[in-house]
Amino acid sequence: MRLFVAGLGTETNTFASFPTGLADFRARLWVDGDVLSATPGPGIAPVQHWVRRGRALGWEVVEGLCARAAPGGVTSGAAWVALRDHLLGQVAAAGPLDAILLYLHGAMVAEGCDDCEGDLVTRLRALVGPGVRIGVELDLHAHLDHVLVAAADLVVIYKAYPHIDYSARAEDLFVLMQRTLAGDVRPVMALFDCRTMGLFPCTWPGPMAAFVAAMTAAEGRDGVLSLSLNHGFPWADVPIAGAKMLAVADGSAAVAAAAAAAFGRRFYAIRKAALLPFTPFGEAIAEAARGRPGERPLMLLDTSDQVGSGAPGDTTHVLRALIAAGIRNAAVVPLWDPLAVGVAFSLGVGGRARLRIGGKFEPQSGPPLDVPAEVLFLRRDAFQNQLETERIALGDIAVLRVEGIEVMLTTRRVNLYDPSMFALHGIDIATKQVIAVKNLFKQYDLFGPLVRGQLFVATPGTSNPDWTSLPFRRLPRPIWPFDPDPLGLD
Ligand SMILES: [Zn+2]
Repeated sequence: MRLFVAGLGTETNTFASFPTGLADFRARLWVDGDVLSATPGPGIAPVQHWVRRGRALGWEVVEGLCARAAPGGVTSGAAWVALRDHLLGQVAAAGPLDAILLYLHGAMVAEGCDDCEGDLVTRLRALVGPGVRIGVELDLHAHLDHVLVAAADLVVIYKAYPHIDYSARAEDLFVLMQRTLAGDVRPVMALFDCRTMGLFPCTWPGPMAAFVAAMTAAEGRDGVLSLSLNHGFPWADVPIAGAKMLAVADGSAAVAAAAAAAFGRRFYAIRKAALLPFTPFGEAIAEAARGRPGERPLMLLDTSDQVGSGAPGDTTHVLRALIAAGIRNAAVVPLWDPLAVGVAFSLGVGGRARLRIGGKFEPQSGPPLDVPAEVLFLRRDAFQNQLETERIALGDIAVLRVEGIEVMLTTRRVNLYDPSMFALHGIDIATKQVIAVKNLFKQYDLFGPLVRGQLFVATPGTSNPDWTSLPFRRLPRPIWPFDPDPLGLD
């Protein structure tokens, strides 16, 4: 067997004013061949898994480009065409292939292209013809529609949010591809549009854990090979947005359609209970101020400025509010500010200066904070741990003391994944009243035992979770929560 593997993705927030260009892919993850040489992480681990699995079976594995940019604004048209044509050129040069496995994100929007993944796989299909099997793995925050489903043979989507299962889903896809190539199964896919938009974490107390368990239990039974709920990415104003239920059946379009509709309707019925609740900004700061000595810290999740939703990660609203509320025993992590990190390195540990922090990148970054600061900790090429063996690069970091609050500045736009973000860089969260991070749900399970609560805070910013307040114009309507009952099933 000859297998081609590659990866490409970013998650596009169409409300972010800053573009995503080729340089952003090169800066974040760019591995062109020799995939196994890269540090394992969420952007490449599935492709590395496929390379190892294929070679262990004696297959010839051809490695294409693996590139990812941090979530951000719309990808430039030139960057998209360059990336797409680079991958197509690699497949054309690879010679005869039996299969292609692609690790895509699924929510990449470029100038002139609302559906980059659909465009890529459609062109790939035209290039290789109907005889080559194409399998695609997507993040569950994707925009999935019939274009991609029609062009691919197999699509498998993460089931877990937080995303701890990208390598497990890569294995699912590999096994299905192996069985397809062997003639053991004949995959047929169907999609059901749930007409729903939102954030639906799978480990929040609520119905999603049971829904995921039900999907897993139904796989491999009654002709159903695979089930995936694509949650959709809610900060993108595109006509293919929204949650979709995907079913892969063995040889039967009717079985696939029935499974997609049954699970799609089941998700629709729980959508309100499954939606992550948000806390108004003022309420969250008031709760933070109620902390007592000896209590575990309260965790504030600055959802509107979280990099994982395409926001800059440099707003100062939460830091400013903590200072105004008189809260001093706190940590604010991370805040993206390469300029201020550079000044901190010039000052050195123990150095003091009046610094301008944050609020620099785009109009929605809000005002910067001009404050006296003391440098507590510096590290070049810092990282945090991810899962058991992976790492997330942070770039260079500086930990400052600002009005008594410990603030970590980074040169890379990055989310918090793991407590090592604090522990490796001199911040003891056990002694804090408040830890404020620019995150959504990634950290929820790991930090549960370490904090007294986690509040998802709707601050001002690029990825504000009050979707009905955003200037959407191109969404498919009707769609919940903009329309109360689009499927008429309530
Ligand atoms: Zn995601």
